[in-house]
Amino acid sequence: MPAPISHSPVSSANALWQQRSVASVWHPCTQMQRMGEVPPIAIARANGPWLEDHEGARYFDATSSWWVNLFGHADARINAALKDQLDTLEHVMLAGCTHAPAVELAERLSARAGGALGHTFFASDGASAVEIALKMSFHSWKNRGLGDKREFVCLRHGYHGETIGALAVTDVAVFRDAYDPLLMRAHVVMAPDARRAAPEESAADVARRAAADLAALLESRAGRIAALIIEPLVQCAAGMAMHDPAYLREVRALCDRYQVHLIADEIAVGCGRTGTFFAFEQAAAEGEPQIWPDLLCLSKGISGGYLPLSLVLSSDAIYEAFLDDDTARGFLHSHSYTGNPLACRAALAVLDRFDEEPVLQRNRETGALLTAALAVRLDGDDRIEHMRQRGMIWAFDVREAHAGVRFAERFHLAGRTQGLLIRPIGRTVYLMPPYLLNDEHVAYLAERVVTTLNAVL
Ligand SMILES: *Cc1c(COP(=O)(O)O)cnc(C)c1O
Repeated sequence: MPAPISHSPVSSANALWQQRSVASVWHPCTQMQRMGEVPPIAIARANGPWLEDHEGARYFDATSSWWVNLFGHADARINAALKDQLDTLEHVMLAGCTHAPAVELAERLSARAGGALGHTFFASDGASAVEIALKMSFHSWKNRGLGDKREFVCLRHGYHGETIGALAVTDVAVFRDAYDPLLMRAHVVMAPDARRAAPEESAADVARRAAADLAALLESRAGRIAALIIEPLVQCAAGMAMHDPAYLREVRALCDRYQVHLIADEIAVGCGRTGTFFAFEQAAAEGEPQIWPDLLCLSKGISGGYLPLSLVLSSDAIYEAFLDDDTARGFLHSHSYTGNPLACRAALAVLDRFDEEPVLQRNRETGALLTAALAVRLDGDDRIEHMRQRGMIWAFDVREAHAGVRFAERFHLAGRTQGLLIRPIGRTVYLMPPYLLNDEHVAYLAERVVTTLNAVL
């Protein structure tokens, strides 16, 4: 049944694009029948954190356009890099050819991982990176004579994308349930979500309890298990569920003990989002040497929100398991646009920012301002709970008794009238802004989020 859109004459450019969009574009993560109540915002242009519609109304991109846009829209340096690349080499296949943007990107990411993850495989979307990591894990065990290791472990409420393989290790009911009959079975273990702490329990205690749940599974089943996949530090799609870094140390040790690969899905939390370039950099205990996963997936922010790009970084041990005269023992995943030079060049421009500017330091400073501005307005507000922050992610949960029906949709719509593009996850309101906050942005965000909350509750 088509969405109940208005049949009155189209009176504005915004309404025209909304109407044409609803008629022709199948929007993601959207019940198309509700397009009458929630028409898409028709964006004409964007600059910095601001999105602008066809009539000049501005919206602050408070979640970086689904977590991808790191340095704002129409960033002069990324634009210049892309224009240069466009006039040099737009694309060439990466089987049988190579090119500077792919090589430089692989080298620079390897260096950022201390050489521990020195082999980069390219794809275009996050879900494909997850599929690749799962295939690599299984196939490398098989090449080493351990073909029985073909099962995967994921965390309660974890999210790894929505293709059939990635969905099999995703435990978010709304995305998964309809397709469950199609999916390979995976083991789901306790998540270290700090909100689950019992009275008297610390976040680190919850992390240890979750690790013990994994240990019990590995103890009985490791001979069949290829890999554990986790989102380090923040399970974003679960509703910004944050955990203690102790969890990362515990699972690294367990995976070593039981010969199971550790896959870090840093698609959302990588590229500085949690305060370090890779979230996993926060895994080691104070004064201890760095530890790393066996495979690490990146996407979203790596290309600055400009072009689809994802990567899987692999350890030497996994890579070397594929070296052989036989093609069939090599890694097989043939994606047409793998290593696209334009996307790689955008990523290089993003890495330039991290190399040339104190991005993480600046985020710590402006982040503290936003934390304080939210605290002034919301501390002690008993309509909400679990106010939390990690790096450039802020979240709080609206208590069930206050949220009412369709909270996320009502909040999103109210946010529009406040000049905010924001989409809560269930009862969780979160901010994941681009890395360019100034004092004015901080005040705007804090004020408008609270005004929106008051309007909705
Ligand atoms: C977004 C996301 C994915 C999927 O990425 P797509 O590009 O949307 O396929 C996978 N894992 C995590 C943690 C994500 O946040």
